[in-house]
Amino acid sequence: MTNTALTIGDDGWVVQAERIASPNFDARPEGMPVDLLVVHNISLPPGQFGGGEIARFFCNRLDHDAHPFFDEIRGVQVSAHFLVCRDGVLQQFVSCDARAWHAGASAFLGRTRCNDFSIGVELEGSDDTPFEAAQYATLAALTRAILARYPIQAIAGHADIAPERKTDPGPCFEWRKFRQMADLPPEMLPFQGTA
Ligand SMILES: [Zn+2]
Repeated sequence: MTNTALTIGDDGWVVQAERIASPNFDARPEGMPVDLLVVHNISLPPGQFGGGEIARFFCNRLDHDAHPFFDEIRGVQVSAHFLVCRDGVLQQFVSCDARAWHAGASAFLGRTRCNDFSIGVELEGSDDTPFEAAQYATLAALTRAILARYPIQAIAGHADIAPERKTDPGPCFEWRKFRQMADLPPEMLPFQGTA
């Protein structure tokens, strides 16, 4: 799948993605352009990969008694549009046309409430583990598809728009590699160096 071009349907869902509908979304403000892509990392429990808990968390179906960390996030209702799993598999939870709940309190170059105008992509990972080649490939393909469909002006990390609260996608995320694989002009990454 990772070498295949991805397409976004008229409903805002990627045709080739595994569709796992989350109830954690609502409407974007009327007429709001979708012009920001936000890159995150997440793992549940933190630092452990592959258990399927992220999808359950985004669908409010996590067993909060199964792990001490899950108890800490009891009642939290969040989502992202996409999750790129360690093996490059792409899961989608919310239509790109709707507002997912991934950024929280945030500001992009002075514009607050980034959920209103952004698409959120989670990479299964952590701040201290390198991401997999398959994840970069899927993220690059997804980015190309999103750019072809939405008027994206910039791509930022969660830490760039919520620096007081967040560190993801973290120092292991190779922005330059991503930029090259997705064929992005450096100006689209305002928080990264141009080297
Ligand atoms: Zn995040």
